[in-house]
Amino acid sequence: MQAELLIKARWVAPVDPPKLLPDHAVAIADGRVTAVLPTAEAERSIEAERIIERDSHLLIPGLVNAHTHAAMTLLRGYADDLPLDTWLQKHIWPAETRWVGADYVRDGTLAAAAEMLEGGTTTFADMYFFPGSAIEAALELGQRIVSGIIVIGFPSKYAADAQEYLDKGLALNDRYRAHPLVSFMFAPHAPYTVDEATLRKIASYVGEIGLPLQIHLHETAQEVSDSLEQHGARPLARLDEFGLLGPGFSAVHMTQVDDADLDALARQKASVIHCPQSNLKLASGFCPVDRLQEAGVNIALGTDGAASNNDLDMIGEMRSAALLAKAVANNPTALSAPQALHAATLGGARALGIDEHTGSLTPGKWADIAAVDLSDLRLQPIYDPLSQLVYTCGPEQVSDVWVAGEQRVSGGRVDGLDESDLRTRLENWRRRIQES
Ligand SMILES: [Zn+2]
Repeated sequence: MQAELLIKARWVAPVDPPKLLPDHAVAIADGRVTAVLPTAEAERSIEAERIIERDSHLLIPGLVNAHTHAAMTLLRGYADDLPLDTWLQKHIWPAETRWVGADYVRDGTLAAAAEMLEGGTTTFADMYFFPGSAIEAALELGQRIVSGIIVIGFPSKYAADAQEYLDKGLALNDRYRAHPLVSFMFAPHAPYTVDEATLRKIASYVGEIGLPLQIHLHETAQEVSDSLEQHGARPLARLDEFGLLGPGFSAVHMTQVDDADLDALARQKASVIHCPQSNLKLASGFCPVDRLQEAGVNIALGTDGAASNNDLDMIGEMRSAALLAKAVANNPTALSAPQALHAATLGGARALGIDEHTGSLTPGKWADIAAVDLSDLRLQPIYDPLSQLVYTCGPEQVSDVWVAGEQRVSGGRVDGLDESDLRTRLENWRRRIQES
């Protein structure tokens, strides 16, 4: 068999199947995985144009950051240690109203994309203003993006009203329809920032166009009690009534889950995108990951924006999710290391409607791959590489990253990024925002 590239590794964790394969290799042609097989067998049967050997490394599917606001890197550390409503209404929204524009989003997303790629994240789902600029930044570094057709019930420099938000997002969807690295999702901000008529309209678009959808939901107990007071129903129940729930529906956060919520999510085959570090930092509450998983709800992981995390490190997010799930369930077997890796890869791809294309090292899928170097002294000895990945590694262990078979990170650094130019831009934004 011919291959353009053969990557030999000490271990491969393809996620699907959920096995750890020692001394295996991944063969790639036309940007896609063509085989995952024992290295000894690959050496006999595969004629590769290029061979890369990573003999102390674990190959995993590229990580999928299922929920972020990438350009918020420009507000990293701008307002910390505050409750969600004060943080949003007194700090983040005013700063965004003043500063967010196409250049802001391009620079902020470029910083985010570089950070994510260097941490092994090959796909991110973005919910932010000026999504066209975010797509350009992701593509500049060759990263896969699921762009949110953002809708929020107040005007911004990007759009004047709900219909303009929708029209602009749908136009982008048309423009990038055939692009192999770009896909779309509806991204209404939250049930309390988007009115009922707009949410019902989005439900009809979902039915027509078939895109996935994600929305901030049940982020805090206050959100649920406000909804009960104003509408006589919990937010999830309202969205269900509007026709928004289904296999393409993802609830981001979901710290408040009663039996009816659990039943609705499971029945509709919906996903929950868990953002543990953001929930911890804003004291939003605790998502009952273990209970959701037991009910059969798909779990994905997201970092949320860099202003509420404050990094975009999916390895750290796996660790936080695995630790938090155990504390919340009072059960140390909750969200094991392999389950955390599943949530950070295939679970995310499924929530974003792209699991046929990425999320596991399975023949036929795009070769979205991260190589994690386990040779560092502080990772020794290695009984279980997946345990090391989730509980011990940091993003600095990611040495190489491929997206659709193209190498985008080598030696832990993004290829082709003018880092000093980006640093200057980031510092210029800091100065303008802070000194205004
Ligand atoms: Zn968010």
